[in-house]
Amino acid sequence: METPKLKFNFALTAEQVVSPSESDRPRRSLGFDETTPFETKLKYLDKVGVSAFWLYGFRSAEGTMRDMGLLQAAKEKLERLGKEVYICCEPIGHPDANQKTLPGKGWRYRINCDGTPDYGCADIEETLVRDLVAATKAFRDAGFKKVFFDDDLRLGEWGTNITGCFCEACIADFNRQQGTRYTREDLRRFVQNPGEHAAICEQWVDFNCDKVTAFMKAVNLPGIQVGIMVMHNGDRKHGIDLPAILQAVPGCLVRVGEGHFDDASFDPDWGKQWLIQSLEMHKAIVKDVSRLYTENTVHPWPNLRPENMAQKLLIEVEHGLRNIMLMPPCLLEAPAYWEAIAAVLPQAEAMVRGKGQ
Ligand SMILES: [Zn+2]
Repeated sequence: METPKLKFNFALTAEQVVSPSESDRPRRSLGFDETTPFETKLKYLDKVGVSAFWLYGFRSAEGTMRDMGLLQAAKEKLERLGKEVYICCEPIGHPDANQKTLPGKGWRYRINCDGTPDYGCADIEETLVRDLVAATKAFRDAGFKKVFFDDDLRLGEWGTNITGCFCEACIADFNRQQGTRYTREDLRRFVQNPGEHAAICEQWVDFNCDKVTAFMKAVNLPGIQVGIMVMHNGDRKHGIDLPAILQAVPGCLVRVGEGHFDDASFDPDWGKQWLIQSLEMHKAIVKDVSRLYTENTVHPWPNLRPENMAQKLLIEVEHGLRNIMLMPPCLLEAPAYWEAIAAVLPQAEAMVRGKGQ
């Protein structure tokens, strides 16, 4: 297999690409600068050579897919400029104590083992899966060939605990499957003491992993390639069984989200070591680096210095990653980041050549 070359990807919104004068389709207010033309900002990205653009097509917090007419207008414009255009979805969302409106119609929040809702974060259940399959079908029919399911598609937060959704419906499903009558309190005791309850914990982990794997299988429609983002150290404890997902969806793209999106976590040596360990763990499972994507983002904005974003990228390239995925959308208006990346580009390319192209 030929060693893949370095490729730059950037995720943004259709509103950032298409100005109000270019399309009268409904727009969502995002607070971005709409006066400077996209073509002007694109010059920052050209210093790096971004060749693939991922348009946000669905964000769980919004509950509905973004306007297809606007997405298509952005696709046509980017393609005229010689770029590849794909779709990025945030199906589940991140916990956000301030987001108290339910995401999609009929969706439900993920519930923690203590019964508190993970506001901002959806449970993976029938309605969500149906809505995302419908959205994916619409993206495919509009000519988009790749759809990434991003923003940590999983059933629990980062950490070493066994997670999952502990809502009443999920507990009832689990009990039905197992022929048991566990309460949330029982399950909480089990996952908090996995050493004493290994067998039942394994069944609970399987139950949650099956939901994420089934989701990826459901959206893997003919005619498109789908991808999943796996969070830093994400594994079966969070419902992410990467080997099972790759078996269910053989061509699956995998974005290895390895955290370290701010200076406080990236600056220390341990930060860089954690990044490398998790990256190597995920890479060892996927193996095919042509299907692996980085997660180069700044969060919270703008807490990662441009130089650190560039340094993180170098670590990822050194450890074999070739598809660089840059975020967040406001990066389009931040030339300092593109300059910092352009400054390390010769070094990154030398690393790629050094690995034998
Ligand atoms: Zn649930």
